[in-house]
Amino acid sequence: MADVLVVAEAAEGKLKKTTHSAVTFARQAAAALGGTYSILVIGSGVDAAATEAATLGAAKVLVAQDGSLGVYLAERYAPVVAEVAKARGIAVVVGTASGYGKDLLPRVAARLDAGYASDITGLVTEGSSLKYRRPMFAGNAFGLCSVATPIQVVSVRQSAFAAADASGAQSPVEQVAVARPGAAAERVEFVSFDQVKSTRPELAEAKVVVSGGRALKEKFNQVIDPLADVLGAAVGASRAACDAGYAPGDLQVGQTGKIVAPQLYVAVGISGAIQHLAGMKGSKVIVAINKDADAPIFQVADYGLVADLFTAVPELTKQIQASRG
Ligand code: FAD
Repeated sequence: MADVLVVAEAAEGKLKKTTHSAVTFARQAAAALGGTYSILVIGSGVDAAATEAATLGAAKVLVAQDGSLGVYLAERYAPVVAEVAKARGIAVVVGTASGYGKDLLPRVAARLDAGYASDITGLVTEGSSLKYRRPMFAGNAFGLCSVATPIQVVSVRQSAFAAADASGAQSPVEQVAVARPGAAAERVEFVSFDQVKSTRPELAEAKVVVSGGRALKEKFNQVIDPLADVLGAAVGASRAACDAGYAPGDLQVGQTGKIVAPQLYVAVGISGAIQHLAGMKGSKVIVAINKDADAPIFQVADYGLVADLFTAVPELTKQIQASRG
């Protein structure tokens, strides 16, 4: 028997949707291994997150709750995950390749002396052996890899694993002891957390994304926001737009930004560099607006409009508004 441990992500006491993608992986991996999966919730005041995790079909929900875990610090969380994995003889530790997972899981792997398969987009099982599909070269190629260490650590790309539904059953919840922070944690001090508040859907989870590129210059918000508003969309941006200060860095879509796979992705004034495509080409329908008919973005677009964005986008916004009365 070989069991899987899902590292849950919680914010303000609630379970984040990213956890559901890791649970989908865990169901598949545990079935192949002939084992079970548990969900580990870490923090302080996370009872509601644990209760929600208990609806996801796990054999157990483990709760590591302590005042010292009230704010996320990798140096405090990584030893907790590693200790739980070791104590329970876990074969695979999995989380989602969100900012949280990308920060935490490599440290967990180092503590466990485990191989780490990051940002996987698929699981291939042969009997009880697990192989992981991973993008390479900015998503231009995919490789299959396996991990040879006794414990494996995996992060899954959220857009590649559908969110797990509630199972209908309630898993038992067990509190686990939290050891005092080690020397590494003692040297780290939490100073502050600046959260960007937005009424828009979260970029990585949105069904519709409207992204703008460098071409928008200082008119980024003036042109993109009204279109995003009428479509109920999240706003994204190219790296060039972020680097130039037209859009904040947390909106960047691409290889070194967020990976999105919405039902509809509208790329406005974006050339379609491979590093940008790496973050959005999994979108269901791609619409591109660019004045250059040869822009590479048109090679991946389902619908393309060759036009000046400064006239086309306000007109499109107006027409959508009018069609809705
Ligand atoms: P440009 O390439 O300058 O394109 C602007 C486009 O706007 C052009 O196609 C032009 O025809 C069009 N345009 C201009 N004026 C108008 C107008 N009036 N109306 C309509 N269209 C107009 N990029 C990312 O986006 N995300 C990443 O994560 C990322 N990671 C990177 C990682 C590495 C290691 C490297 C080297 C690069 C990375 N980049 C990334 C940068 C990437 O290579 C491109 O430079 C960037 O995506 C270009 O952004 P852009 O399309 O907004 O700008």
